[in-house]
Amino acid sequence: MFENVVEDANVVSIPPEGIDPDALARSLPAPMVFVDLETTGGNALEDRITEIGVVEVGPHGIEQWSTLLDPAEPIPPFIQKLTGITNEMVRGQPSFDTLAQGLAERLHGKLFVAHNARFDYGFLKNEFRRAGIGFQADVLCTVRLSRLLFPSAARHGLDALIARFGLAPQGRHRALADADLLWQFWQKLHTLYTPDLIGQAVQRVTKRSSQPPQLPDEAIDALPASPGVYLFYGEGDTLLYVGKSVDVRARVRSHFSSDHQVAKDLRISQEIRRVEVRRTVGELGALLLESQLVKQLQPVHNRMLRRSASLYSWQLTQESDTPQLVSAKTVDFSGAESLYGTFSSRNGAESALRALADEHRLCCAQLGLEKVAKGRPCFGYQVKRCDGVCVGAAPLSEHTQRMREALATLRLETWPYDGPIAIQEHGDNDVEYHVIDRWQYLGSVASRDALDALVDNMPAATGFDPDIYRLLGRRLAALRAAQSTAPAPLTVLHLTRPAFRLSQVERPDAAPRKPRSVALLRRRQPRPEDPDQLRLPFDVR
Ligand SMILES: [Zn+2]
Repeated sequence: MFENVVEDANVVSIPPEGIDPDALARSLPAPMVFVDLETTGGNALEDRITEIGVVEVGPHGIEQWSTLLDPAEPIPPFIQKLTGITNEMVRGQPSFDTLAQGLAERLHGKLFVAHNARFDYGFLKNEFRRAGIGFQADVLCTVRLSRLLFPSAARHGLDALIARFGLAPQGRHRALADADLLWQFWQKLHTLYTPDLIGQAVQRVTKRSSQPPQLPDEAIDALPASPGVYLFYGEGDTLLYVGKSVDVRARVRSHFSSDHQVAKDLRISQEIRRVEVRRTVGELGALLLESQLVKQLQPVHNRMLRRSASLYSWQLTQESDTPQLVSAKTVDFSGAESLYGTFSSRNGAESALRALADEHRLCCAQLGLEKVAKGRPCFGYQVKRCDGVCVGAAPLSEHTQRMREALATLRLETWPYDGPIAIQEHGDNDVEYHVIDRWQYLGSVASRDALDALVDNMPAATGFDPDIYRLLGRRLAALRAAQSTAPAPLTVLHLTRPAFRLSQVERPDAAPRKPRSVALLRRRQPRPEDPDQLRLPFDVR
């Protein structure tokens, strides 16, 4: 609606004779601070503030405030020339530290207005951070506001605004004078547009204060716009959260954008102090690494991933009419037949089966979920939710058939390969090999040589990992189903665990033999008839 706003007569209100600034100030829906800074340079992390100018406008009226600051570092000559603020002028002035508390109170809860606001806001935030204060404000950039309201204008710098609107500068490149120009611009807007339209425009360009107060904006800008895992750290280097994305920078930004703010992100925003990134070649690598790190490091704000130690499943063998609850402690989930679902508790497993029973009119007594004397009806039969297999009113085979159909969607696939595999993932320029064995992630490497080394030292898979099953089950099935020869981002390589460890076992006929390379011996396929079988298999326990 703003694109043609200048041409739209309906939204323009022309006050009879200018605007009364005090009346305008008192009519504002919320207090505002028009802010301008002078600095020793353009880098918010390294350079320092030399002057602050604030025009505070709100129900109490208009108040101006300005001070020079000692930046504790020399001002480059060209900046001295531009602003007229010299080293001599700032010597002996207060440091930001000494003013920080008072300034924070002055700015608190007010709409922060600045020209190129990112610059001024970033500088202030960093200075506050150095002073131990987490500063956060809703930010309105008058450059963006000008672009939105005057889309046909080519330039939106302060000089352009002065020329276009006949603003009256009290000086230029001094903090209070520039802050006052923004206040003049604001008044000018009210001679051109209705408060309602200005309010809508402000809402469109205001950045909500969800940016983490203790994290420099540059820290997010510096993140890679590529796949990887990011780790948020808080006070005392507490690990707050681990996440993954194909575009780490955009995902981290979205945590702190106002559009879809959730309570968890708000808490993280308050607590976060630094971000660490581990790059991956693609999405799969990021998923696997995230799953591994969350389990290993248990970040404060991640949902706890299930651990295979307390993992249950329903087992229904071909001969049985009743599913049995089995635990991963006693049954190998990656190899056992006829398992249905993974559950982190007995209760969870039972309520899932109960839900299936309800949905498919199965008999809870027959399923073992309800204890009834033999020949007595289950509860469901009495409320007509069971067809009566419990009282012999329906055939058991038919019930068993329906139960198998109901469970089918939960069926766990046994590990479909003869041994470990490497999933080769191609990125834009790189490749990564993810080694998986029996639904367990054993690590990723970046080259074939490293893959060989990993295989030579590969630990035995110790347990079914439900996360890895969830991440890979369907992907691998799709890869096996696709017979395409076209280059795919993912390729499965079949690996062989080193069959033999070198040992001191001597052959009975100690005839000298030609020495063979260690690498060759360790890569050999196990063959039963091979006399070298005397040596121990890799993962005998
Ligand atoms: Zn029944």
